[in-house]
Amino acid sequence: MSTNEGPIYYCVDRTDTIVEIGGSWDRFAEMSGAMDLFAHKVIGTGLLSHISGDVTQSFVAAALDAARVLNARRVMPYRCDAPRFKRFMEMKVEPVPSGLLRVSHRLIRTERFPYELNFKASATGGSPTIRCSLCGRISGADGWLEPEEASLLGLVRTGDVNQVIYTVCEPCKSVR
Ligand SMILES: [Zn+2]
Repeated sequence: MSTNEGPIYYCVDRTDTIVEIGGSWDRFAEMSGAMDLFAHKVIGTGLLSHISGDVTQSFVAAALDAARVLNARRVMPYRCDAPRFKRFMEMKVEPVPSGLLRVSHRLIRTERFPYELNFKASATGGSPTIRCSLCGRISGADGWLEPEEASLLGLVRTGDVNQVIYTVCEPCKSVR
């Protein structure tokens, strides 16, 4: 995915069900390895069902509700990293005249990781590492760490898939 492919977007109704999608969605899903997100499979599904982590689901649901109640656009930066790249993204939520909310995702820029880092949402828990869905940082003993810092401290491993539980860190909660 590069910056000139344009945003992808979807529209959700009042129950946060995806009712319309657009942009280079299938290409985005393919490049993200998210084959289950292909366009024809997501229409009619609940947006929150595609989001890992209870806290992140609540956070996104609250952002959608706020956009509805205030009838105002909200723009939220977040990270959606690939194994070799930090991907700085932007999510925009805006009410549209049809009464739906249009949610678009745009890649702002990428930055290379010094080495490959793989993360996967943990389904079971176990001895999980906690990662923020929005800024991509990892919970450490003294605060939130960039993935490469967490790697230097041995909290995440290179050349392996790191099982993580997704949440929203306090700094991200407080600025949005
Ligand atoms: Zn965060």
